Amino acid sequence: MSDPIIRIEGLTKRFGAVTAVDSVDLEIARGELFALLGGSGCGKTTLLRLLAGFETPDSGRLLIDGHDMTGVPPHLRPINMMFQSYALFPHMTVAENVGYGLRREGIAKAETATRVAEALEQVKLSDFAARRPAQLSGGQRQRVALARALVKRPKLLLLDEPLAALDRKLREGTRFELVRLQAELGLTFVMVTHDQEEAMSMATRLAVMHAGRVVQVGTPHEVYERPVSRFVADFIGIANIFERDGHWTVLRPEKIALSPQRPTTLRTVQGKIIDIAYEGDRSLLRVATDGTVMIVSALPDSAHQRGQSVWLGWTDGAEHILAP
Ligand code: ATP
Repeated sequence: MSDPIIRIEGLTKRFGAVTAVDSVDLEIARGELFALLGGSGCGKTTLLRLLAGFETPDSGRLLIDGHDMTGVPPHLRPINMMFQSYALFPHMTVAENVGYGLRREGIAKAETATRVAEALEQVKLSDFAARRPAQLSGGQRQRVALARALVKRPKLLLLDEPLAALDRKLREGTRFELVRLQAELGLTFVMVTHDQEEAMSMATRLAVMHAGRVVQVGTPHEVYERPVSRFVADFIGIANIFERDGHWTVLRPEKIALSPQRPTTLRTVQGKIIDIAYEGDRSLLRVATDGTVMIVSALPDSAHQRGQSVWLGWTDGAEHILAP
């Protein structure tokens, strides 16, 4: 990658016997909405805190915008961080919260007021400037936190589980808002999330982490369609994983066709439906075949029943074969 905004080389961070971040190499391009994705304890938050300068690495190097960040404290890095808890001051108004960092830097009152107004406009909260955090909804508080991070005009914004404090419905709408804002501002966002759906729907690229290591980096499409390992295949979406001719093979549920008769596709297997999970927009069927249970996605109005005998069929190209 030419001229990345972030270059991470062999970065390692240990806490006693635990290696939270283990020899991570990663490059993030300018203007990306990059997601660090992984389960609990995989090291994603520690990696974000290393970027912010809240943790010091044991070894390796981090360059931001071409500059080595070794020994550079958080407030001198060209970045800002939005915390999961939002950490708003309850006794300050929205405008005071947003302007806090600028006032601390000694920026003149008039300029602070202009920049606060601009940041509130960006997150569509101009009418709420005089309210206190307790008088806002969860979604509005999230936008105050975002405005407070944006007002300092960082090159890079780090977001720690930005949507985790919101309820499910609001989370979905806010995803689009964040993506819109990121594209509009042309900033680089690095976001930590354990939610694969969130990472898949928002990120330009993502890094899947496991046990302190980055196990795959790619676009959501690449990671879903061409996972590098059984771990990634299983972590991202639903996967049927089976062995064929000595190779592990991944087959996604939506690539399998169900029919009462033997289909004409190259790959076929007969089985019996043992479970149907209705999900509104689709149903997920568990089909017991000779030796394994396959998960198949079907239209919800299809007249399948538990106990029914069916044929599964798919093309050769639907399979993804993992490297040994
Ligand atoms: P979660 O989603 O649960 O927050 P995570 O992927 O963000 O998980 P990290 O918080 O980075 O994971 O933690 C990685 C590992 O490092 C864990 O085993 C954790 O217990 C350990 N760890 C993190 N911070 C510290 C600390 N300050 N002291 C000791 N161990 C720590």
